[in-house]
Amino acid sequence: MKIIPISLPTPFYVGPVNVYLVQEEPLTLIDTGPKTKEALEALKDGLRRERVRVSDIKRIVLTHAHEDHCGLAKQLRDEAKNAQVFVHGWETGHRAGRLEYEEHRTLLERAGVPAGEVSEMRRMYEGVRAFADALEDHEHAELVDEEEIRFERGALRVIHTPGHTPGSCSFLREADRTIIAGDCVLKRITPNPVLSPDPVDPARRFRSLAEYLVSLARLRSLHPTLVYGGHGDAVHDYEELFNRYLRAIGDRQTEVIRLIPKAGATAWDISLQLFPGAGDVHRFLAVSETVAHLDLAHSENKLALELSSDGREVYRRA
Ligand SMILES: [Zn+2]
Ligand SMILES: [Zn+2]
Repeated sequence: MKIIPISLPTPFYVGPVNVYLVQEEPLTLIDTGPKTKEALEALKDGLRRERVRVSDIKRIVLTHAHEDHCGLAKQLRDEAKNAQVFVHGWETGHRAGRLEYEEHRTLLERAGVPAGEVSEMRRMYEGVRAFADALEDHEHAELVDEEEIRFERGALRVIHTPGHTPGSCSFLREADRTIIAGDCVLKRITPNPVLSPDPVDPARRFRSLAEYLVSLARLRSLHPTLVYGGHGDAVHDYEELFNRYLRAIGDRQTEVIRLIPKAGATAWDISLQLFPGAGDVHRFLAVSETVAHLDLAHSENKLALELSSDGREVYRRA
């Protein structure tokens, strides 16, 4: 069972995305790249190098439903006729190519994002979602934690690794403890814990960073020898990355807490200080990151949280 990385261009700031061909029956593609002509061409080139055509693909497995990873899923599924698409059930908002708009608006407003900025973020997102086709409910099956994706020779075990998104999944080949981790593990950058409604209770915020720390520890407990990420080079030394991530998260938390003035502040206020230059889509990611750190600090009793009369969450140092 060979795992072959194929790098595809994306129109996003993050740069190229890695998708993985599992060269074994049934032929399986893990992630697809964004819905662009360039990505599709690069994918077909990559497959051709392995003497594979799109029509040979039997299964499409998604690590998560961000546009750079799932964008071509529907198109490839249609072209490969009977290919089955798999994604975790918690990717609901994304897998259909649309975020739960009203829930997102509420989450952003509660984080103190001004109404005009919320509208602007939604407008930007309209542009991003053009890079993925929506999948209807009957067009995909669900990945379930700890279940095996079986091949003629070998298997990949599904490891649900929430954090970057609620339904992010990694895939473990037990024989040599190789893991395909999507955006859960990236060699050069710490993945953004993206602001999302909680899949169990959408009126709440998903506790992305707390969940993410658990996922990182879970992967560590599997003692991976090689981790294939969604972007950049493979990781050979997971222990080093794990410690580096933990330090980075700790440092960021200290910084976030330090930025809170005596009178208190919203996540939006702090994100402006933390990422002063962030424009466009990055404003949303900046708020996401800030909220995630505030939530974690609050859950660790380092911050107090009050709801202002206009429904914004105001943090104070405990
Ligand atoms: Zn992602
Ligand atoms: Zn990505």
